[in-house]
Amino acid sequence: MLRTHTCGELTDKNTGQKVILAGWVSSIRDHGNIIFFDLRDRYGITQIVCNLNQIDESLVELVKKVRQEFVIQVSGTVVERSPETINSKISTGSIEVVLERLSILNTCQVLPFEIQDSKNINENTRLKYRYLDLRRQQLKENIVFRSVFTSKMREFFSSENFVEIETPILTRSTPEGARDFLVPSRLNPGSFYALPQSPQLFKQILMISGFDRYYQIARCFRDEDLRSDRQPEFTQVDIEMAFIEEDDIIDISERLIKYSIEKSMGKEIKIPFPRLTYDEALSRFGTDKPDIRFGMEILNLSDVFQNSGSSILDEIIKSGGTIRGLVIEQGEKVSIKDVDAINEFVIQKGGKGIGWIRFRQTEIVSPLKKVLNESTISNLRNLFEIKPGTLLLFLGGQERWVCETLGEIRLDIGRKIQLVDENSLNFLWVVDFPLFEYSQEEERLVCVHHPFTSPKIQDIEILDTQPLKARSRAYDLVLNGTEIGGGSIRIHQRQLQEKIFSILNMQPSEYNQRFGFLLEALSFGAPPHGGLAFGLDRLVMILRNEDSIRETIAFPKTQKGICPLSEAPGAVDENQLKELHIRVDLKPKE
Ligand code: ASP
Repeated sequence: MLRTHTCGELTDKNTGQKVILAGWVSSIRDHGNIIFFDLRDRYGITQIVCNLNQIDESLVELVKKVRQEFVIQVSGTVVERSPETINSKISTGSIEVVLERLSILNTCQVLPFEIQDSKNINENTRLKYRYLDLRRQQLKENIVFRSVFTSKMREFFSSENFVEIETPILTRSTPEGARDFLVPSRLNPGSFYALPQSPQLFKQILMISGFDRYYQIARCFRDEDLRSDRQPEFTQVDIEMAFIEEDDIIDISERLIKYSIEKSMGKEIKIPFPRLTYDEALSRFGTDKPDIRFGMEILNLSDVFQNSGSSILDEIIKSGGTIRGLVIEQGEKVSIKDVDAINEFVIQKGGKGIGWIRFRQTEIVSPLKKVLNESTISNLRNLFEIKPGTLLLFLGGQERWVCETLGEIRLDIGRKIQLVDENSLNFLWVVDFPLFEYSQEEERLVCVHHPFTSPKIQDIEILDTQPLKARSRAYDLVLNGTEIGGGSIRIHQRQLQEKIFSILNMQPSEYNQRFGFLLEALSFGAPPHGGLAFGLDRLVMILRNEDSIRETIAFPKTQKGICPLSEAPGAVDENQLKELHIRVDLKPKE
């Protein structure tokens, strides 16, 4: 038997027992005649004591050979620690094991970094030695949590009669707004599979086949420029249902989230989650993923600033612009330097600068103090119940830009003056998205979600005349200011689907070539259906209070899409390329 217990299991209840433990030597403390090892495995850390005076020569010699991260097996007796040496931070902190026998199961080279500090080292080194990094407790717990969390989700799905179905990885393009990863087909020279950006089309087709309730914990691939919360391959909890409407999907999603968080973390989640329309989210928070852990909403000040005495403000209002602002009650916490930085930020975003007023008891401090009318100031005080110490920031210009800019400033200040309760989980649905937006880059309409999203029934008639006014049947779920999921009721009629493709500027030859299989399937009795997908990595990241999804994935890639451990992507043999009829134009990198 290699071990009788794990390193996280022994307590004072085991006092006096002979035990065998195995694990990694996490640290060694040499006090001359007494040497302590912290022995670590997945379950925890146990302190081993070696009293060199009480063991024989050969064991002393072996003990002295042990180095950090050696894999050892120890036999010994569990004893209680003296009260002053109890470590209440760990589950085994009230005992230690007195060493009687030791085997070195494996040695370990000098480490490239200290395991406990691995989070702070250079990312390439960390990912190259990911197996060492993964020995760090916090990271290991993230990975274990992820497993528990998904098992709770699976429990929920099966109790609700969902069928887990795998969909192909080698497939056709499924447009979700990113570039495809392509895989050449040897058997079909010159043809390529695309890795799925999501299982979108297959899950819709499964509804057409009558599966009614589908889910999959699905790997998705998107060839995008990477940021801290993006990876080229990531995991979605993917759902699709038939004969449902928005409220059905929203309800099942809320119950799924509640169940899996409560069962995996013991944290209570209240449902239903609040809902905001897209327009409201933009005007009140300046973003379609508002962080509602704090208030400080964007206020419309255009009326108050009518005839305020400032010609600049008058000009903005007259030319059809708007003035919006933020009332910061703890204004003293925002320094002159902070306001300067905000001003700089506004200028960088193409604005003229930020306006501000600091309210004292009766006086104000502001660059506009000389021009602003008394009545404007007192209106502000009354309307927004402004107390002394408050700082008002305001910005004028075109509505969308003003709101988005103030939205960013709001988040920044909220974080800075600690309005955010880092422990709360604040869920919010955003609904009533526009169906399309105009892409300056592509000079055409593009979808806000994906092209299979249904317009609102009452907006179908304005698709031709005012497509930008048409709203969709989409919904996004936002947690603490991050989008963690999104979905929609789908188009289930071929004709409407073709219409959307043509509004997106696709010719029939193009959409038939790319999506002919879906169009055909829609014409064989497609039921009304819809669904949603959660970004599992992001959700776990937030639940674990991490700031990057790389902390939730065992083997993530760097910002350049490289896996430093396996050194993927790598060059391939000339022969392999030949078989695929591919010639590479670039010299492979050394
Ligand atoms: N396929 C969508 C996505 O990946 C989610 C959905 O509409 O169900 O964002």
